[in-house]
Amino acid sequence: MKKLLANLLRQLGMLRFDFLVTKQDSFPQTPESDEEVILVESGAIQKWACFSCPGGCGERISLSLNPDRRPRWRIETDFWQRPSLHPSVHQQNECGCHFWVKKGQVYWCKDGQPETHIGKAK
Ligand SMILES: [Zn+2]
Repeated sequence: MKKLLANLLRQLGMLRFDFLVTKQDSFPQTPESDEEVILVESGAIQKWACFSCPGGCGERISLSLNPDRRPRWRIETDFWQRPSLHPSVHQQNECGCHFWVKKGQVYWCKDGQPETHIGKAK
């Protein structure tokens, strides 16, 4: 329900986000939508953050949240389930996207990809 409200507030221009978190306990076969970060949790343990690359390349990104692995990321969510990821995401494949996610919003790094790269047809 909170997600519906968040989307409504976004339409009204009162809330900004590119991503909201959806929690589930198993690794997703496919992301539900390109505005979702799937947070895979097992019990109280955060395992993965999975989402589609916001650069428009459609690349699927899976970030390990396991503290025993390297590299690893931390994810925080706020009241609206907007994710903040730390450190930044730097794709090593040909898309080369490099960005931060803070409070659900994508911030592109210099040379990460310009906004014009986002070819979302909406
Ligand atoms: Zn990309």
